[in-house]
Amino acid sequence: MVCKKCIESPVIKLPNSEVSLCKSCFVKYFEKKVFKTIRIYKLVEKNDHIGVAVSGGKDSTALLYILNKLIKKRKGSRLTAIAIDEGIKGYRDVSLDFLKNFCNKYKIDLKIFSYEANFGKPLDSILDANKNIIPCSICGVFRRYLLNKNSKELGFTKLATGHNMDDEAQTILMNYFRSNIRISARLGPITGVLNNKKFIKRIKPLYFLSEKEVTTYSYIMEFMDKYMECPHNAQSYRGQIRDFINDFDSKYPGTKHGIITSFLEILPLLKNNLNYKEELKICSICAEPSSKDICQTCIYAESVVNKMK
Ligand code: SF4
Ligand code: ZN
Ligand code: ZN
Repeated sequence: MVCKKCIESPVIKLPNSEVSLCKSCFVKYFEKKVFKTIRIYKLVEKNDHIGVAVSGGKDSTALLYILNKLIKKRKGSRLTAIAIDEGIKGYRDVSLDFLKNFCNKYKIDLKIFSYEANFGKPLDSILDANKNIIPCSICGVFRRYLLNKNSKELGFTKLATGHNMDDEAQTILMNYFRSNIRISARLGPITGVLNNKKFIKRIKPLYFLSEKEVTTYSYIMEFMDKYMECPHNAQSYRGQIRDFINDFDSKYPGTKHGIITSFLEILPLLKNNLNYKEELKICSICAEPSSKDICQTCIYAESVVNKMK
């Protein structure tokens, strides 16, 4: 068997198709698909200062590399990488070391914000002292908070994240299963239901690429030699949904793609439905946006972290 575009040996069979591509044809296909998503959904515009949320993992590294390549060619646009150090020994310290070297190599400005500096304790200590807490529930809230707050302070016009098709399909199903459909109105390749200065606009240039494609791209580009996963990932609700969708997609190919395409058809209805426009409040402690009088970050900081001191 040879590559569909040339005579080299193929390295990947594209999802939902009979097309197999070699290394260099796959890299071209991958980058073209990212640029097409950026163009169609107007993810990057003139004079944008794009923040790229990076973790040192395969998805965000692939995204950072491609966006850096694009923005270098555009006069007036800027890019800064932003990372969160949750404080997970043996995992985040390793991925942040990789990230620092990567940014150094490609001359990308990198800003890191840690739970320890902002909330007083690293995630490891918080979890040690609070055995009953689900790691991702507090971690996800703290991470979103620091990303949003610091992106505004750094003057980003948009925040790019490495979410791929698999991530989005998982989030869509999670919101259905948990009866959180109104939260899905905030999904899609570019967020916009809350067009509010308090929220940084988020863009997802890898939206139409599967996990398998992003992993293949990262390995071909030699961004990393081993794939690391957070030790708490398997415990998460998302981890179980991921296994469920993967299992279903292997039995019925096209399932993930189906979830995304049907969702994109109903997304304009969700966004336009006035009932889904939430009233936004300002947290009385930190002045960040919140759906309640006190935001979830301040609730966790007070009820979980401060009581440890
Ligand atoms: Fe945090 Fe959970 Fe992600 Fe680990 S998997 S970094 S605990 S949100
Ligand atoms: Zn080829
Ligand atoms: Zn708050």
